[in-house]
Amino acid sequence: MIRTLLIPLFLLIIQALGAQDIRYARHLIDTLCSNTYYGRGYVNDGMANAAVLLAQEMERHGLRTAGPSYLQAFPIAVNTFPGLMEFRADSTFFTPGLHFVAAPFSPTTEGEYRLVFPDTTRLLNGTYRAPDPRSVVVIPEPGQSRNLRRMGDSLRYRNPYGGAGVVRLKEKISWHVSGSWPLKDYFLIDAVDSLWPERPDSIGVVIRSVAEPFYMVENVFGYIPGTRYPDRFILFTAHYDHLGMMGPYAIFPGANDNASGTAMIFDLARHYAAHPPEYSVGILACASEEAGLLGSRYFTEHPLIPLDKIEFVLNLDMVGTGSEGIRVVNGTVNPEAFALLDSINRTGQLLPEVLARGEAANSDHHPFHEKGIPSFFIFTTGKEYREYHNLSDRAQDLPMTAWEEVFQLLQRFADAIMKDGH
Ligand SMILES: [Zn+2]
Repeated sequence: MIRTLLIPLFLLIIQALGAQDIRYARHLIDTLCSNTYYGRGYVNDGMANAAVLLAQEMERHGLRTAGPSYLQAFPIAVNTFPGLMEFRADSTFFTPGLHFVAAPFSPTTEGEYRLVFPDTTRLLNGTYRAPDPRSVVVIPEPGQSRNLRRMGDSLRYRNPYGGAGVVRLKEKISWHVSGSWPLKDYFLIDAVDSLWPERPDSIGVVIRSVAEPFYMVENVFGYIPGTRYPDRFILFTAHYDHLGMMGPYAIFPGANDNASGTAMIFDLARHYAAHPPEYSVGILACASEEAGLLGSRYFTEHPLIPLDKIEFVLNLDMVGTGSEGIRVVNGTVNPEAFALLDSINRTGQLLPEVLARGEAANSDHHPFHEKGIPSFFIFTTGKEYREYHNLSDRAQDLPMTAWEEVFQLLQRFADAIMKDGH
């Protein structure tokens, strides 16, 4: 009884001091990264349940819907990995997600495969052919050769060597889910070099993938109506999906990528709901960014608000650090807006560095940019945290170094645009 009475009082005091933002953000990041949401991907309805959570958050903050609900559903084609995943070289077992990952286009396969070790020259010039359909080509740790790494990367388009598949040895592994469709007729496995035995004869592989040609995913959209110019929008976007699961045990939590950006736009939603802005402020949590910017692309093709009424898009993806500052993709494309952002940062002495970058199709701002809508993609930089697309991108380790400063910068920038537009 005493506890339930004390906590609200405590929260009230914190709120009065203006420190409530990061507490709310941390709570949302913790929730999104908890096992309940299975890494917000395609196994166990992780992403779908996260969409429901975010819609409830929008309702709690009092955001308006642009249609019958906050959810904008659409189908995508994706390969998923709900079943058993095993990888063994001779008698050494590799742990799924930690010691090996399978490329997302890998088909279901099970069996023992003979390894072949072609020399680098023949791997590079593409003249090597696997001796039989059950053999698997090994590409050694490519750290020393850029060309070999490029050759390895091109395997997501085609396998010039034939055989059942390819094993790439890597110092560090990370998983990706883009390019999963259409499935290939070979598998590609990245395995950690440090565990790889001396010249093994064979590998044992179990991949149980399930191809989903019509998997339903949902964007989550809501807005706070503007007090003076309700038909003009500032749109905050962030993808809430991550990689989900590879097999029944490996969950990729995706704290920095991108529970952090999601929490930032919901922190802003909370703020603007409490302090109604002059323009309308849209909050778009995008689905399936990791599968190839599918949610933001769908939104720009099926907009819930008129695209020509969007004055600016601010996309947040990986904002959990910040000791060095931020990078601004499209900064050089929108020089006036960048100068405004930079001057707000300097005047407010917020972040050590605000760096402009050119355009890049690397997050959800890009489909808007392609439609001619001014947009920035902002991410934080800093060496205090480097987990990326691995099992260790966990909420409890996320530093959130410059949370307040990034929040302040975004809010002041959006407010300045609303003033400028008069
Ligand atoms: Zn990512």
